[in-house]
Amino acid sequence: MAKKKCPYNVILISVDAVASPDAESFLALPAFKYFTERGCFTDNVNTIYPTITYPIHTSAITGKYPERHSIAHNEPWQPDVNDKMRKWYWAVKDIGTRTLWHAAREKKLSVASLLWPVSGKATGVIKWDFPEVLPLPGEVPVIKMMQYASKLWLAVTELRYSKFRQGLGRCSMDDYMALLCEKLIEKKNYPDLITVHFADTDDTRHNKGVGTEEDKAAILRMDRRVQRLIDAVKKRGIEDRTVFAVMSDHGQQNIEKGYIPLDAKLCDAKLGRAQSLGMGAYIYADDLEKTRTFLEENSSELHIKYILKNEELRKIRAPREVVLAVQAEDGYGYVDRNCECDHLGDHGFGLEAPGAKTLLWLVGGPFKKGVKIGGADIVDIAPTIAEVMGLAMDDCDGKAISEAFEKPLD
Ligand SMILES: [Zn+2]
Repeated sequence: MAKKKCPYNVILISVDAVASPDAESFLALPAFKYFTERGCFTDNVNTIYPTITYPIHTSAITGKYPERHSIAHNEPWQPDVNDKMRKWYWAVKDIGTRTLWHAAREKKLSVASLLWPVSGKATGVIKWDFPEVLPLPGEVPVIKMMQYASKLWLAVTELRYSKFRQGLGRCSMDDYMALLCEKLIEKKNYPDLITVHFADTDDTRHNKGVGTEEDKAAILRMDRRVQRLIDAVKKRGIEDRTVFAVMSDHGQQNIEKGYIPLDAKLCDAKLGRAQSLGMGAYIYADDLEKTRTFLEENSSELHIKYILKNEELRKIRAPREVVLAVQAEDGYGYVDRNCECDHLGDHGFGLEAPGAKTLLWLVGGPFKKGVKIGGADIVDIAPTIAEVMGLAMDDCDGKAISEAFEKPLD
């Protein structure tokens, strides 16, 4: 076996769009039960504001709140572009600060990343990189990927394994990522750090709703993918030196009552713009006082649950450029002007929602076994993995979750 530079290799798995209300279902599944028995678990991880995928994953991988990284949303604000044509934050340089991937590379460790948000164009940082990049209408998926992924590795994997890919939908892509993970684990020089983002559950909940038969089937598929990774590690004979960290980012809620065109209403009233977060929105206005008064006076028509003012946003360490925001009443979402949204499930809710408490398993290596820990913050994930791998990540907002370690941390 090749000599390794750090005591443990780490596989960080993100299961998108599940949270504390899903804990019971997950704990009953074979792969997750295996993790729960062999590691630490909590269903009490505080996610960050906004409760949307890219800012959360960026907080997990940097250990910093959005006020200190540059990912305020899944996509840069493009107010007059139809949502199907919008660019997202796809390149690692968009993050604007150091990540766990950088910390691993600085120690000359090897990194792989599969469909992790904001991980593209990471030459010199991520050796095996298949980032989450969505081709826009008219773009050829493979050509688009070539611009963002590790080119040579992508070409080789496309030649060898693309015949096993059932399609380009999220379920098929997640299955394909499990296959690529298996192949990476089989390598003589397997990666020291793998980050992989499965989002079949997110996609299914948006399109079919939470608690549906389709949703239950998606959760079972998630378990099977994770099991494939466990089996690959066992088969490779590296169980003793492999640490699994499994996180989630946010839950979802059903949108029973529909989407409110908040952005269009503000435009009509010439009071600014709204940028939808799903069940919430950022508000941009020249005259903040006037716009806030309008929102307050029309809160029942606009189904506003509450308004977040600058002071509250600073307290929850929101992106710095956001100084006014709203949360929708349960069952409602917001849609931007010139866009349509027919999601049956969504997120972007406030931090008081049950779906803002997420799930975390820390399994193997230095972690306690069969223990339920009290809780953690999303920003603790990078420093905790850095601690396991002996990496330097001192500038984080979060800290290593000491309660999870067998031996006390220094
Ligand atoms: Zn998500």
